[in-house]
Amino acid sequence: MVDNSLSPHGGILVERVSPLGEAVKSIHGMPHLAVSDQIAHECVDIAYGFFSPLEGFMGKKDLDSVAANMTLASGYVWSIPVVCDISPEELDELNVSQGDSLLLTSEGQPLAVLEIQEIYSYDKELLAQQIYGTTDHAHPGVSRTKAYQDLFVAGPITLVNTPIINPPFDQFWHTPRQLRRSFEEMGWGKAVAHQSRNVPHSGHEWLMKGAWLAAGADGVLVSVVVGEKKPGDYIDEAIVLGHNRLREAGFFRQDVHLTSILLWDMRYAGPREAVFHALVRKNLGCTHHMFGRDHAGVGNYYDTYAAHQIFDTLPNLGIQPIPVQEWWYCPVCAGVAYEGLCGHAKQKQDLSGTLIRSIIQGGTEPDPLTLRAEVLDVVQKCSEEYGFGSPFVDQTYLEQRTPVMSMPTF
Ligand SMILES: [Zn+2]
Repeated sequence: MVDNSLSPHGGILVERVSPLGEAVKSIHGMPHLAVSDQIAHECVDIAYGFFSPLEGFMGKKDLDSVAANMTLASGYVWSIPVVCDISPEELDELNVSQGDSLLLTSEGQPLAVLEIQEIYSYDKELLAQQIYGTTDHAHPGVSRTKAYQDLFVAGPITLVNTPIINPPFDQFWHTPRQLRRSFEEMGWGKAVAHQSRNVPHSGHEWLMKGAWLAAGADGVLVSVVVGEKKPGDYIDEAIVLGHNRLREAGFFRQDVHLTSILLWDMRYAGPREAVFHALVRKNLGCTHHMFGRDHAGVGNYYDTYAAHQIFDTLPNLGIQPIPVQEWWYCPVCAGVAYEGLCGHAKQKQDLSGTLIRSIIQGGTEPDPLTLRAEVLDVVQKCSEEYGFGSPFVDQTYLEQRTPVMSMPTF
């Protein structure tokens, strides 16, 4: 039996970053494969230990076990596949096999070396069913799974070229080692993680405050997921800077709140993704993780509180889930009120995405009970500076934005 409560997960923070000089020698003449942004981000996550104990892309034994038992072959709980796909044609062309090293490239630059331990095929339909509980193509995680090439190449990776995190994200980029050091410096024995993909409204603010109280925490880590965007999403800059503004403006004391980014393409796997989020935030040094309604869900594939219930079926993961219900605006309580406390559910006004969008687009007056004026101000500045006039992702943003991560010329 392994001890799933160890922090980092598995007991050791994985770090697989090669010094530049050695990297230059090692990759000379190596066959190379251009990888997707998703896989490039995952290489960085693996190399800095966000995904400890993973040291690379999963082999078949691990993948089978993750899909069937929600553990790695070693027995450590793990819920989401982390795989590197390749087409049979690409493999033929590269002429590599087990035991060879393969250079993974991003933006035409070297990124990481993968030591090939295994090349295997997988039933993608079955994998989708096991991970997402559906094979419906409308589920974004399922379509991502089905879009994989037909082979997976597995083995440990080593980062050979350190990516540049571009402004304004650079100030929010902290590796697990750096975050753990920051927590120590700030005296955060207990840190509660807040997963976010949204500009924070008052409901989010109170969710964080409530979870901080519930956990008896020293600090809140906002961990903003930065990854593939689709039209209509908030632009990443507004999310990150909006959260940071809550601290700057004193809604959280300077010493109890920190905003950080996580490079990850959401799988929307509901409860399985909640477990994954918990493990990653444990690796960052967090001791608690808040889970709201329909955490990491999409459509109606998962029960509203499935992400709360799943932790009852798992061993102690060394990070305590803090299940939270909804915060809404209640005119009778005359404030932002908690579902579990407020007895005026009939009069409640949801702090819905639609309401917040209407405020941001100028259709509704902002109110500290819905959206902080300071946050609105940041969102509007971000529209001009980063969003081509809009706080929401559109085609122009997708095509012309400055990427979060760039590869330096090697
Ligand atoms: Zn009330």
